[in-house]
Amino acid sequence: MKKVSKLGSVEQTFIRDVVGTQTTIVQLAKKYGVSRQSIYVFIQQKGIKRLKREHIEKCSICQDLIRIAKKPHSDFLSSQTIREQLGLGRVGIAHHIRILRSKGLVSQKFGRLRSRRAERAYQIYFKKRLPVRMIGKHVGLRNFWSIIKRHRDLGWDVPAPLFTYNSRDRRKSAAKRVKRKGAE
Ligand SMILES: [Zn+2]
Repeated sequence: MKKVSKLGSVEQTFIRDVVGTQTTIVQLAKKYGVSRQSIYVFIQQKGIKRLKREHIEKCSICQDLIRIAKKPHSDFLSSQTIREQLGLGRVGIAHHIRILRSKGLVSQKFGRLRSRRAERAYQIYFKKRLPVRMIGKHVGLRNFWSIIKRHRDLGWDVPAPLFTYNSRDRRKSAAKRVKRKGAE
């Protein structure tokens, strides 16, 4: 166990990391430059219990959340919709999602979307070749573009719109803007 002994000098920090909820085994292996295997061995030898891990494996809510989070664009499901998909009504899921996020088992953005309207707008945005403004109008969001922009700035993985603005569309909307300005 040469590799494990390499951990000796940093053992205290390492144990804190292992017992804490913030780091996955993969991340730990990377951080300390050792194999995953040697970390498992170390955990067993020391009799360390990773409580949160046990919770995740035994918790049906966490298991269902992981399943939902694996589907495409799951970051863009509102927390209310996630609760409904779990059939949980008003039962809180925030605690479970926090654990899963801290373990890196779901995306950092999963469960953060609050707005049902934004969720509906995104569902259309991912599937239909429509201008963003039209999608916003359809769901009753005047500022869908700025919501997309804000999400992107915050690191959400928002794909490019299916609808591409060709030069004719651009000219048309520019003409519209001019007309509107004239009307004001
Ligand atoms: Zn759970």
